[in-house]
Amino acid sequence: MSEPSRPQPRPTPDTERFWDGCRQGELRLQRCTSCGTVRYPPSPTCRRCGADDDEELVASGRARLASFVIHHRAVPGFEPPYVIAVVELAEGPRLMSNLVDVDPDPEALQVGMPLEVTFLDLDETSLPVFRPAEAPDPDPFADAPPPGVPRVHRPEVAGPPPRPRDRGAVAIVGAAETELGKLPTMSPLNLHVDAARRALADCGLTTDDVDGVACAGISPVELTHALGLTPTWADGTAVGGCSFMLHVRHAVAAIESGLATTVLVTHGESGRSRVGGIRWGGPGYLNQQFEVPYGPMGAPSLFTLPAMAWMDRYGITEEQLASVAVVQRAWAAHHPKAYVRDPITVDDVLGSPLIAWPFRKLMCCLVTDGGGALVLTAADRAADLPQPPVHVLGSGESVETPMVSQMEDLTSSRAFRTATRRALAEAGITVGDIDHLMAYDAFVHTPLYALEALGVVEPGEAAAFVAEGNTAEGGRLPMNTNGGGLSYTHTGMYGMFALQESVRQVRGSSPAQVDGVEVSVAHGVGGMFAASGTVVLAGHRG
Ligand code: ZN
Repeated sequence: MSEPSRPQPRPTPDTERFWDGCRQGELRLQRCTSCGTVRYPPSPTCRRCGADDDEELVASGRARLASFVIHHRAVPGFEPPYVIAVVELAEGPRLMSNLVDVDPDPEALQVGMPLEVTFLDLDETSLPVFRPAEAPDPDPFADAPPPGVPRVHRPEVAGPPPRPRDRGAVAIVGAAETELGKLPTMSPLNLHVDAARRALADCGLTTDDVDGVACAGISPVELTHALGLTPTWADGTAVGGCSFMLHVRHAVAAIESGLATTVLVTHGESGRSRVGGIRWGGPGYLNQQFEVPYGPMGAPSLFTLPAMAWMDRYGITEEQLASVAVVQRAWAAHHPKAYVRDPITVDDVLGSPLIAWPFRKLMCCLVTDGGGALVLTAADRAADLPQPPVHVLGSGESVETPMVSQMEDLTSSRAFRTATRRALAEAGITVGDIDHLMAYDAFVHTPLYALEALGVVEPGEAAAFVAEGNTAEGGRLPMNTNGGGLSYTHTGMYGMFALQESVRQVRGSSPAQVDGVEVSVAHGVGGMFAASGTVVLAGHRG
């Protein structure tokens, strides 16, 4: 039996020119003839200026290391440990790649170290990989910002000014979770339906009251069929774990504009038991061509990939990263449904098995089964319902890139900044008004990126903020009070559970209740920093 081989890119007509170049030992890029921006991976238009004419540019092959992980898990075709890197070319673009001719050891690797391209011949193609090089003279990065930070930012859109309207006129009136953990007899669809029934029971409504549905993971068509509904409004936005934040945002707009009166948002996922299998993109997708051949093993080596650029830029320590897991485990101890509740220390976290250095097992989210659902309607109707309304004061959303290596800035998520800024503006609040925060923690660094995007702290300060206890019980801004994806539950798309805890905190019913929560923010990430959604919830109208 032959050894399993590493996945190879399957060129599509629009990427053939690039892969043909690799076979010839050339990195063929496109340079925009309008603005001069060099782009990778191949694309029909310039992502900076939108122009569609370009000329070929053969890259010099000079590069520097922007970020990396040292991968310690077995992947077919790879011998761990090995280095998965984001490499910055002298011409500007960044690409995911592997490092060769260097020890896969933190001592041998330094963000910013000079690299040069070489090509790894595979059966059907050649892959650009990188090896350490002498620093070129002159240094093409002499005037460049820190590794991972773009030389030129694309203009950021603010969106239209928030409409003057009755803030909080739509409320979450029903919220519930299914059983969580290991649920080997529940399909994703069954979890959606179970969550829907529980959320409707929570607010004393039935499916007869529902005229709008939103869900991700399964199609709204599957959900409505299972519930026997034919709604007037449906939303199948699926951008990963924050999809539910977007659903809440869209549901508010739908109810305010008269497209629906009562909206059900559902989630259900068999992340651990894998009932019914899971769905993957086809081989021609960008990430399958330009990331998967380098041996990432899903989220643990993709989501973590930008962190080293951020750690290097701001001097973040592994101990500070570990403290996020420690603080959240302490919160989880209050929650009977949390998957893991025993206290842990920074040493426990740093002593847990290496996954993708600097990330260890206890810095990565759980893998569980479960579901949850929300019911939204006009706040005016809430007086007739059993639960206190949780008003949606504002929300924001954004999407950036399907490839984590192509985030504009590895040290700060553009999608996070856009979504959080929008949500606070719509809610008419400042960051000082936030009493409680749920910041999606797929890995320990993601809530830290959220704290910085929200403006709770300055860039680079979030790790110290958490390590110093500011998000712990009694701290300045209690965060992830259910224990988060690290300790409570993480089915794959965790955002629903962040929203559930925000609702509980505003209602005053969380097992880890914080005193006097009037405003709670639930911030989510989708994909690997691909998308973002932020919802501001409050016990009052704006
Ligand atoms: Zn351009």
